[in-house]
Amino acid sequence: MAGSVRTGVGVDVHRLQAGVPMHCAGLFFSDESAGLTGHSDGDVVCHAACDALLSAAGLGDLGSNYGTDDEQFAGASGVSFLVETARRVRAAGYRIGNVAVQLIGNRPRLAARRGEAERVMSQAVGAPVSVSATTTDGLGLTGRGEGAAAIASALVIAA
Ligand SMILES: [Zn+2]
Repeated sequence: MAGSVRTGVGVDVHRLQAGVPMHCAGLFFSDESAGLTGHSDGDVVCHAACDALLSAAGLGDLGSNYGTDDEQFAGASGVSFLVETARRVRAAGYRIGNVAVQLIGNRPRLAARRGEAERVMSQAVGAPVSVSATTTDGLGLTGRGEGAAAIASALVIAA
């Protein structure tokens, strides 16, 4: 129904591996000695945001939209997933209200580049994206430095 508001949620986790380029929240961190691994560039922040958008629009999730056996998306950047996901959400008849994402982990150090990440991701989505970060007091896979996680929510409005 036109004007109806829907929220969505998304979570993603990727492994940290030494010697891999660190791509996170749409940015490249040249000063990080380890990066996130995955079928694509391992950008947990962009992936969680995509899942939240797809969830809000009732379009499934990253896995069901971009299969890991689909070579078209092998190595694709998190930003390119965001652009394509926002396109699919709009094609399904929704305006995008906003997206909020929180990175959970010790690496990368996002604080100094938070504004930059928000600009890049907002431009990709075509709506405001807020980015924040937290750590887990040394506990769990993110606290032990084994990986990074992200949690996101999105709001869409039926056009
Ligand atoms: Zn992912």
